[in-house]
Amino acid sequence: MFIDSHAHITANSVFAHVDSLLERAQVAGVESVINICTDVATLQRGVELVKKYPWVHNVAATTPHDVEKEGEAVFPIMEAHARQGALVAVGETGLDYFHHHSPVELQKHFLRRYLTLALACRLPVVIHCREAFADLFAILDSDYVVDGQLAPGVLHCFTGTEAEAEGVLARGWYLSLSGIVTFKKSETLRVVAKMVPLDRLLIETDTPYLAPQSRRGSQNEPAFLPETAAVIAAAKGLTLEEVAQATTANARRLFNLF
Ligand SMILES: [Zn+2]
Repeated sequence: MFIDSHAHITANSVFAHVDSLLERAQVAGVESVINICTDVATLQRGVELVKKYPWVHNVAATTPHDVEKEGEAVFPIMEAHARQGALVAVGETGLDYFHHHSPVELQKHFLRRYLTLALACRLPVVIHCREAFADLFAILDSDYVVDGQLAPGVLHCFTGTEAEAEGVLARGWYLSLSGIVTFKKSETLRVVAKMVPLDRLLIETDTPYLAPQSRRGSQNEPAFLPETAAVIAAAKGLTLEEVAQATTANARRLFNLF
């Protein structure tokens, strides 16, 4: 069994066929989906969806891309849901200096606010980071510490270098790999897949983006997760079952799923 640790299944382009998508996920052996809500509409759909599918769990925050547009207006809504126990994590928040859709200072401001919220609610965080690892690590090390230790989180859809992966692991965090690891050109990422200890690894689809190699060009969905797990298993010299078991146990531990 697998856990898709990061999918946007209440996004506009996905939600219309979410029932059939979740049926295919179950057939493919996906026992749980972590649904990432990025605005009020996707969060409201998520809250309804988990009533019907208790094996779906919601996470919410404004992405670093959208903080300029609606970070301020949406924060209290995300905060209320986190405080009510409606979320299994806070995110995806973080820094994106590659797309740079919102000013850097504003991205940092909302990252800090969401980290503070996660600490207050004792929830883990889901972090998005593109070309901003030095700033990310500095903020985590100053703002996200409890009793001298970094609080828990995952670096989602990791596409950084080996050194950046080591920075994530040195902080006791999980690192999540997406379908990008299956792409022909992703040799560096397969080296990272090999070096990440099995007890620090999560897997995700990032539905509807980043369909794995054999499905490139189509909309991604949780049912495609085993292909990513198989490529990681090959890189590590393990069986698919070993990768499935470990990543499922890791996701349960991080998100407190029982
Ligand atoms: Zn995402």
